[in-house]
Amino acid sequence: MTNDPLWYLKEQLDELEAAGSAIHPRTLESEQAARATFDGREVINLASNNYLGLAAHPRLRDAAVEAVKEFGAGSGAVRTIAGTMSLHVELERRFAAFKGAEAAIMFQSGFTANSGTVAAILSKEDVIVSDQLNHASIIDGARLSRAEIKVFPHKDAAAAGKLLEETKAEGRRQLLITDGVFSMDGDIAPLPDLVEVAERHGAIMMIDDAHASGVLGPNGKGTVSHFGLDPARVDIQVGTLSKAIGVLGGFIAGKQHLVDWLVNRGRPFLFSTSAPPAAAAACIAALDILEAEPERVERLWERTRFFKSGLESLGFDTGDSETPITPVIAGEDRAAQELSRLLWEEGVFSPPIVFPTVAKGRARVRTIVTSEHTEDDLREALDAFERVGRKLGLI
Ligand code: PMP
Repeated sequence: MTNDPLWYLKEQLDELEAAGSAIHPRTLESEQAARATFDGREVINLASNNYLGLAAHPRLRDAAVEAVKEFGAGSGAVRTIAGTMSLHVELERRFAAFKGAEAAIMFQSGFTANSGTVAAILSKEDVIVSDQLNHASIIDGARLSRAEIKVFPHKDAAAAGKLLEETKAEGRRQLLITDGVFSMDGDIAPLPDLVEVAERHGAIMMIDDAHASGVLGPNGKGTVSHFGLDPARVDIQVGTLSKAIGVLGGFIAGKQHLVDWLVNRGRPFLFSTSAPPAAAAACIAALDILEAEPERVERLWERTRFFKSGLESLGFDTGDSETPITPVIAGEDRAAQELSRLLWEEGVFSPPIVFPTVAKGRARVRTIVTSEHTEDDLREALDAFERVGRKLGLI
């Protein structure tokens, strides 16, 4: 017996370990790059969200160093007290313009942007109509808001419309919310249909573009621009600064009164210290690159097509992916873990994604191609997939 009141956690961890689902993160010992060193081993890295290779780009490094020299390492306060720095204001102005929105507001992460915003704009009389595969940060925000949560089948705009129809009659405020690109499957939300449904029912339309910002649409402007929609038709666009932008943070773009409300009621904005100057400055440099080098996004898509068609012609099940995120579906959790382990031994890092993150029987490894993978990198990875796939009977 133990008198440690936390011992139950150890017992639960032992159960996770026995089921093969405990998480043991690998340690990155180099910069985040197409070939990177994890746990002492250089591998082809298909595991990062560094879509455009900006995380270690010389211009972002320089911008971060300059900002540290001029403004120091930390901001020293929450935004609403003394932590709003000129760099934050500049970044927000730039992001609003990038997204074609009236205004934008920065949060500490994409996670807090989602959860803080959903929780701030709704209350318990309201309704959230949410895609079944939306990100955890949306779900947490929905729970914090205490609004009623209604989930529609993945990408089913007609089903979302029915749920909105049900509550419209009750005169309740409604939020229709979707990811732009779904993080585990790499498919794209049917945004034009969802916007149409939201407009028909007078619902607020919100999109989480974490995996679409810097990836989809001209210059990586996101899902709204991918579909050629007028940005004014999407009330709230969420983006992360932590993936294609290469740094850390999240933002909300929309109307000025939305942003002003979040300054007053967005709890992570009010109660958690703002981003360090280096992060904000590096994000501004990333936007400069996105605007000046559209070929970087084009290269990302070229490499994506190359790798995806390679996996498909080998005969792997890659689900419904349409973006640089391509799952390779193995089936049972253990099969995905084995696939990932054997790939690692072959020098390819592609992590397993298992239940409950994905449905039972749909466990997979997830691959993410970046603009910085060369065709040689990807060919080598495909060769490894072929050897391992044959060994496991997946192809
Ligand atoms: N939304 C989606 C769809 C995501 O995949 C993620 C990151 N996993 C986030 C939001 C959160 O972004 P961040 O990492 O900046 O907190």
